[in-house]
Amino acid sequence: MKIIGNGSILTLNKKNEFIPDGALLIEDGIIKGIGKTEELRNKYPDAEFIDAEHRLVMPGFLNAHMHLYSTFARGMSLKGKAPKTFKEILEKLWWKLDKNLTTKEEIYYSAVVPLIEGIKSGTTGIIDHHASFGLIDGSLDILEKAAKDIGVRSVLCYETSDRWGKALRDASIRENVRYISRVKKNAREYGETLTSATFGMHASLTLSDETLEKSKREADDLGVGFHIHVAEGIEDVEDALKKSGKRVVERLNDFGILGDKTLAIHCIHVNEKEINILRDTNTMIVHNPESNMNNAVGVAPIMEFFKKNILTGIGTDGYTPSMFESAKVSYILPKLHYRDPRVGGKETEEMLFKNNSKIFAKFFDRPVGVIEKGAYADIILLDYFPPTPFNESNAFYHFIFGMRENMVNTVMVNGRIVMKDHKMRGIDEKEIMAKSREVAKKFWEKMENE
Ligand SMILES: [Zn+2]
Repeated sequence: MKIIGNGSILTLNKKNEFIPDGALLIEDGIIKGIGKTEELRNKYPDAEFIDAEHRLVMPGFLNAHMHLYSTFARGMSLKGKAPKTFKEILEKLWWKLDKNLTTKEEIYYSAVVPLIEGIKSGTTGIIDHHASFGLIDGSLDILEKAAKDIGVRSVLCYETSDRWGKALRDASIRENVRYISRVKKNAREYGETLTSATFGMHASLTLSDETLEKSKREADDLGVGFHIHVAEGIEDVEDALKKSGKRVVERLNDFGILGDKTLAIHCIHVNEKEINILRDTNTMIVHNPESNMNNAVGVAPIMEFFKKNILTGIGTDGYTPSMFESAKVSYILPKLHYRDPRVGGKETEEMLFKNNSKIFAKFFDRPVGVIEKGAYADIILLDYFPPTPFNESNAFYHFIFGMRENMVNTVMVNGRIVMKDHKMRGIDEKEIMAKSREVAKKFWEKMENE
């Protein structure tokens, strides 16, 4: 039993309560009470006391779309062959990289690094989309181990694709099925609460009709939805039109891929009819503004998604482990794009502070990303002592203009403290980074010699 006391508590709960001087009672990984510091301390004198010293206490950030495997691309040279299009970025960088991930060590270290960086920037949960076509079987177990070693809540899946032929396509489907079944069994039999799973698919442009049908059958049997990139580049639209005479969202909908358990990532090149289909199927959308800008694929029409009440969250797409970065760019991008200073604020606040929590709630049996009784205790303490009045209605603007990731002081996930006073617990960070450099160096040599 733990008490986090003397904190300024931003709950982000339904009533959006802000408690300027409060405390939380945490037991078995769950928030069991919210109240006054003295009251809770008197009532539970044996509880371990964590003094927030008037820091800001809030739910940890959630990353609704991530690629942990992208780490070894950091600083990698493409030897003067700069990709000119999104398709070339996929072919020359990402597909080459995922095919060369062949060892447990490579997958583990590429995952563990951004998980640590995520914790240090206050991210307590991630929905990951994994690809390692050089080692598919068991790859999600390696990711799960990395997430557990660091102490991060995770929703994992494997990126099914036809791009490397039928044998590897079948292996991808098998890995999803195997892992989803195991996660469900562990939840049932061992009360596993830190991990969840969904069915991963790359994008319409590398998925044949046969693969969509097969995946749909398997996902239905398991009772899960999909995690899939949708109309990220214009290439996806052109390919769907060529394959089916339909646009991406229409093609996926024909195969039953959309629905209230499905995460449609990006949705940049979608027309009004497609947005209506996303709304009518209650499909969730995840926005990744920095990645979209970096790939020069366009700006997602998030204002349209909000007008139609589509549950839209925010992720980082492997561009960065930091939700601070992603949300700050999400805030500012539409202003420039639409030449309108009024847009982007409300939408980003909802994505970051509310919708990511609603999305995670679909994958876990208790609320995540909110401070309320019964929610998982995924909490961060920030060294943020506001220089101007702070309350529940202006907290988001304090986040945009005042809070930075180096203010993340202490992080708790599932009731376990994984970072205290800026220091990661139970791991040697420098040693991990040194080992990662060693593994990455060999990996780069392997890619060059291919
Ligand atoms: Zn992605």
